[in-house]
Amino acid sequence: MSNIEQTLSIIKPDAVERNLQDQIKNDFKNNGFKILKEKKIHITKEEAEKFYKVHESKPFYNDLCTYLSSGPIIVMNLEKDNAVLENRKLMGSTNPKEAEEGTIRKKYGISIDKNSVHGSDSVENAKIELDFFFKS
Ligand code: UDP
Ligand code: MG
Repeated sequence: MSNIEQTLSIIKPDAVERNLQDQIKNDFKNNGFKILKEKKIHITKEEAEKFYKVHESKPFYNDLCTYLSSGPIIVMNLEKDNAVLENRKLMGSTNPKEAEEGTIRKKYGISIDKNSVHGSDSVENAKIELDFFFKS
């Protein structure tokens, strides 16, 4: 049975800075994702703090928000069967050093903080995160 879902993907500043967006978008397309919407934006630190609010209490929160607002990013609305889980699989582990061969973070990630992509971790959070960037 099909279970079409949508999820949010972000190509983070370290990857945009290295001009990897076309390669990463091809990874999504080659793995059956449709890119329904996309835009290149540069968010403020305050917006990054709002987006990553769930991590507010973590020691890395401040650096994470500084980083996400440090340069342009590409936000994408992806669609696929089981898109949330499939995107998490294609991204690989948070730490690129632990990510599986062939995953985006393994191929392009520099470090646990500069790990090239964000992906929603549940259907519920995907809705919230898609609204955050795409609700007009
Ligand atoms: N992060 C970090 N240090 C850590 C853990 C996470 O800088 O020790 C950053 C990293 O960029 C990660 C983001 O915080 O992608 C959000 O963390 P999360 O645990 O949600 O990982 P993800 O869902 O992105 O795999
Ligand atoms: Mg997460």
